[in-house]
Amino acid sequence: MTATVTPQDSTDVVEWSSRNQEIATVSNDGTVTALKVGTTTITAKAGEYSDTCTVTVDCAHKNVTEVPAKPSTCVEQGHNAYKKCNDCGKVIEGSDELLPLADHNYGDLITEVPAKCGVEGTKAHYQCSVCDKLFDESKQETAREDLVIEALEHVASDWKHDETNHRYSCSRCDVSDTEVD
Ligand SMILES: [Zn+2]
Ligand SMILES: [Zn+2]
Ligand SMILES: [Zn+2]
Repeated sequence: MTATVTPQDSTDVVEWSSRNQEIATVSNDGTVTALKVGTTTITAKAGEYSDTCTVTVDCAHKNVTEVPAKPSTCVEQGHNAYKKCNDCGKVIEGSDELLPLADHNYGDLITEVPAKCGVEGTKAHYQCSVCDKLFDESKQETAREDLVIEALEHVASDWKHDETNHRYSCSRCDVSDTEVD
């Protein structure tokens, strides 16, 4: 910066100062040195007169990190690729805005496991391979207990006889000699 004192025969000397010397300093000859991003005021003072100039130090974005794109999953929002300045923290290319969550990864329908005598079955369902949540056949989220098919009761059919007991056998599960009430 330059400052001119008039009239030419004045003996006043220009004194330079910077309000915020962390952002920029100024030397005796008016040379301004930028130190960090921000705004400061440089004052030139001669005798009882002074004038000021606002100096803004911008970031040159010389120290840049390239952040690759990260796709969203059903549990974590991703983002597109962007570049960020390490010095000032600004995104200088692209956007770090988060993308919406992705749909669940349903995969193939897990087929029904029918109930058997004394053994619970499981309804046909989907399970997300990312978040492990369970979904019914129409892909509505569901609880594991809602997928349970109640265990079947034995079906009494033929009487069986031996020397001491009368027993039924179950016609469904083919277990013979199963005592049924
Ligand atoms: Zn920067
Ligand atoms: Zn999921
Ligand atoms: Zn049975």
